[in-house]
Amino acid sequence: MFDAPKLTLGLLACSLAAPVLADEINIYSYRQPELIKPLTDAFTAETGVDVNVAYLQKGMIERLQAEGARSPADLIFTVDISRLNDAVEAGLTQPVTSETLIANVPAAYHDPDGHWWGMTTRARIVYASKERVKDGEVTTYDDLADPKWKGRICTRSGTHAYNVALTSAVMHHLGTEGATAWLTGLKANLARKPQGNDRAQVKAIWAGECDIAIGNTYYMGKMLADDEQKAWADSVNVVFPTFAGGGTHVNISGVAMVKTAPNADNALKMMEFLSSPEAQEIYAHANFEYPIAPGTKADPLVEGWGSFEADAVNLMDLAKLRKDAIKLVETVDFDG
Ligand code: FE
Repeated sequence: MFDAPKLTLGLLACSLAAPVLADEINIYSYRQPELIKPLTDAFTAETGVDVNVAYLQKGMIERLQAEGARSPADLIFTVDISRLNDAVEAGLTQPVTSETLIANVPAAYHDPDGHWWGMTTRARIVYASKERVKDGEVTTYDDLADPKWKGRICTRSGTHAYNVALTSAVMHHLGTEGATAWLTGLKANLARKPQGNDRAQVKAIWAGECDIAIGNTYYMGKMLADDEQKAWADSVNVVFPTFAGGGTHVNISGVAMVKTAPNADNALKMMEFLSSPEAQEIYAHANFEYPIAPGTKADPLVEGWGSFEADAVNLMDLAKLRKDAIKLVETVDFDG
């Protein structure tokens, strides 16, 4: 009872000091403005909810940790299951679910507990020289470790998130022993030490330094859209390798809700909007990725690279193998 007047005053002071809650959400994004802006504009047009986006190059987790409960962030946007899972493991996210999300996002592409939701996919594929690699010469991930490719393969660092996820997928399918043999075989086939980004490997094929390379699908679209890089893209075929008894390795771009999201209701609305077929196609087409909602289609250019069956593994199972995969990359001294 003694506290009652103080409490009333406190609440009053609070309501006077606090700004009127705006209809807005705040996003921290590792993805570029040209991919995100069309989506946030469409969301605002449909719902009247304003969207503020902080585009970050790095340090998202550290920033969220430093801001703690005062963080304005509602959602985080990033690529790669490992980055999403890092945020989950740091305790920075909260589980969400809804009928809409479940209907639009296939089970393999969301956390069973609802902490992260995939919104687009990209396959990790083989780029093969049109001149020096015949159709059907490379069809599986296993093929990459075959000695017939000795001195003919290029790839970026084994410790890059894209390759760590691929190695995790190999571990999932072949076990640690099988994956060790695979990674050792792949290393023995490299034309040069791992270096550069995915596009640099295709450039190396164009320049005659290697015959096949590992890369993500969307870079084909990006290279074709670039005056200088178009020749690199034109020198290769896209091959969708598979695992024995499985499909092609894919990864996601995805979304997670921040644990302390001040605008959780509107943030969930944004997630549902992003998962809608309409938004999925805007999002996927902007970066030559694959939309994941049932009934959606990739850009015609992307469809032209061919159809493939995505590996059915839940990406969470790959995230769990990540530390072992990094250890394996170090053990075989892949980059050395
Ligand atoms: Fe990329």
